[in-house]
Amino acid sequence: MLLKIYDGAESIGGTKIYLKNGPHGLFLDFGINFEKGNLYFKEYLRRRAIRGIYDPITLGLLPKIKIYREDLIPADLSIQDFEEVQVEAVVVTHAHADHFGEIGNLRFDIPIVASPVTLLLIKAMEDCGHPYGGMDAIYSSQRIKKEDERILLTSNKREGRFLRKFIPTERIHDNILEFMGTIPGRNNETMASMDELENLPWEIKGYPVDHSIYGSTGYIIGEDMTIAYTGDFRLHGEQGYLTEEFAKRAKDASLLIIEGTRLSREEHDYTSEEDVRKKLREELDCAEGLVIVDFSPRNFERLKLISEVAGDRIVLITEKDAYMLNALKKAGIDLWKKNIGVYRALKGKKEGWLKYLREDSGMEDRYVDPREVRDNLENYILSFSLYDFPNLLDIKPSRGIYIYSSTEALTEEQEFDFMTIHNWLSRFNFKIRGFSLERGKLKFSRGYHASGHASPEDIIKIVETIDPEIIVPVHTTNPKWFSKNFENVKILKNGESLTY
Ligand SMILES: [Zn+2]
Repeated sequence: MLLKIYDGAESIGGTKIYLKNGPHGLFLDFGINFEKGNLYFKEYLRRRAIRGIYDPITLGLLPKIKIYREDLIPADLSIQDFEEVQVEAVVVTHAHADHFGEIGNLRFDIPIVASPVTLLLIKAMEDCGHPYGGMDAIYSSQRIKKEDERILLTSNKREGRFLRKFIPTERIHDNILEFMGTIPGRNNETMASMDELENLPWEIKGYPVDHSIYGSTGYIIGEDMTIAYTGDFRLHGEQGYLTEEFAKRAKDASLLIIEGTRLSREEHDYTSEEDVRKKLREELDCAEGLVIVDFSPRNFERLKLISEVAGDRIVLITEKDAYMLNALKKAGIDLWKKNIGVYRALKGKKEGWLKYLREDSGMEDRYVDPREVRDNLENYILSFSLYDFPNLLDIKPSRGIYIYSSTEALTEEQEFDFMTIHNWLSRFNFKIRGFSLERGKLKFSRGYHASGHASPEDIIKIVETIDPEIIVPVHTTNPKWFSKNFENVKILKNGESLTY
């Protein structure tokens, strides 16, 4: 067996782990490396779509291996020297872009293995064009070369459409199958189809783990020599017990690939989801005017929590989030509590997914117009983040409270966002919780957010339960922490491999 880490060994995210067993191979996650990508790109400065994989390959954002879609290779990019790798599937742990966001570049005959909920979320993100979310992972239009073969244009032809097969880790409900097979606005096309896990020459078992997005899965691969891969995980969420169950199942693994996101920090924040619940309840009990709670859009567990402590207020979500919630409902996760509504943003052109959402029976009663919010500020909580703030101009709230309930800024770039948030909120007389900006100095306050990742103590607990022969850290900037705490650690850098 060979394990090679192409990316994500020394960074948080961008995970691309390769496993080879004889003539067979697979990738564990194939995510976007935001740390590297942000060196060159930001917001509207993006990779050029018409150049296919040229930009990311040239900048070293994608490994030079022969697994990419042919239609994404422009005439001036030679792949002759790229490494040959055998890949039968890409196994995805969860629907965060740093774990799956580069899949759209892979040949369409490579299927995705993931939990039903992860598949559903990736597909839903692709449908409604979440930035970086699911781009082309499940379906894509073929690119074609015309006169200048360095330029790749999008084919509008129906036959020029790619579909990726998917392999769920457990039996899936017909509702999910139907959702995976249709794209709103493009009727009667057969989209991605299901394949069977048994067809793969690997024994792959997926088990749920707790993380900040539903559907997160840890994997146990192989029979005699087992490899356990945690993906991203934590023990302090509502379903922390799932992670412990995974660890028990992975006991005595030959090799454990484990994340260490939180190990780079010197000081640790031990806030749990329960603590967040108390804090939010306190704030909401005495809130005056409009309330905005800003949390990561796909952290549905946080949304559930907010709807539980909302009191008499209605929680208004964006239409993209509503679309995601409808998708989750198909998997039996129904977060549509009575007190959740949809903010009717003022929009011109309506894309397929939006028409589909607005025409969905049962949705009509959920919609709330900005005028209604303006007249009854005390009745609502907006689930908004910075990029939704222009909608505040339609509401014109006179006062309110804004609660930041997400991760602390890690980069200078992200710090700038908080200045912009501050500017918007000052304009509308909002009080701010969760962060403060005094004389340009940004400070976060604890208790409003619980991390999606395990604390050092919990990582130790998981490693001790699994008690593997070899430990390979990933998704961390401090892999040495593992060697300090355990004996059998093998630190691999990007591009390095291990045979065992
Ligand atoms: Zn994650």
